Amino acid sequence: MKIGFIGLGIMGKPMAVNLLKAGHEIVAFDVNESNVKDVADAGGRAAGTSKEVAEQCMVIITMLPNSPHVKAAVMGEAGVLEGAKAGAVLIDMSSIAPLASQEIGKACAAKGIRMLDAPVSGGEPKAIDGSLSIMVGGDKEVFEEVKDILLVMGASAVHCGSIGAGNTTKLANQVIVALNIAAVSEAFLLASKAGVDPKLVFDAIKGGLAGSTVMNAKAPMIMERNFKPGFKIDLHIKDLGNALETGHGVGAPLPLTAAVMEMLQTLHADGCGQDDHSAIAKYYEKVCGSEIR
Ligand code: NAD
Repeated sequence: MKIGFIGLGIMGKPMAVNLLKAGHEIVAFDVNESNVKDVADAGGRAAGTSKEVAEQCMVIITMLPNSPHVKAAVMGEAGVLEGAKAGAVLIDMSSIAPLASQEIGKACAAKGIRMLDAPVSGGEPKAIDGSLSIMVGGDKEVFEEVKDILLVMGASAVHCGSIGAGNTTKLANQVIVALNIAAVSEAFLLASKAGVDPKLVFDAIKGGLAGSTVMNAKAPMIMERNFKPGFKIDLHIKDLGNALETGHGVGAPLPLTAAVMEMLQTLHADGCGQDDHSAIAKYYEKVCGSEIR
């Protein structure tokens, strides 16, 4: 099938390449031309605008940083809605505010375009091996129609409810991940300051109740001082900002999320915004003047 792909960054590029490997044609666009070239080199066709992508495809995927980028690519000048044909399906796989998904979904519906919000969890490694967890909002029938395409990029795709439900699920995911990294950082600094080798702490507890996918992925990065993203601090600030706004809107207080948000903001102000979110450990290290080693 011919699939449009808009947004070819850390996540979008390997996802588009997996669709190519599965035999789909890809029409690709990104405002960063070198990203488009990479996908063209892998066998995709380059487009000059989101409109041009939409003119050629009945399924269009977006994988962009946040709500304003998706609104610009879909509803803006030379955007998807200027080119898409009635009946086309827009699958927004970016992590954005649920309310923005609903707003974009309405604008799509007005032009006969069907939209799903389908954010992912798993990060770059799982984008590369096609084993992302995909959480989907929107019409169930549309979800069933494109499920096989989603399962090229993911190991699972779960329909969570109406449009916006995918991003609400993703916000829950991001709250758990951020708090878990902060907990790992806090605990490993405690061990390190108390004179116990954090590598031994990791080996001793990873199979017990404290073990988690987050700890398995991030504790080794922290101990190796490898803060190459992965998932950037600045993107997690975006997600927790969306979580806090949504939580306040629906009357769900998020005190722990607010605390970790301030850690992230501190790191951003300190020039670490482009680090992997495992660099939450640096917050504790700076406060204590001591590294986790
Ligand atoms: P990224 O910054 O690496 O890539 C985003 C791409 O979008 C860039 O190449 C940028 O040039 C392009 N772009 C921005 N505005 C555009 C526009 N108007 N039109 C076309 N292209 C545009 O980000 P990423 O890490 O790939 O993340 C993408 C989304 O996936 C985000 O919402 C993020 O929160 C989510 N996500 C990321 C990860 C991760 O580990 N990186 C994991 C899960 C979910």
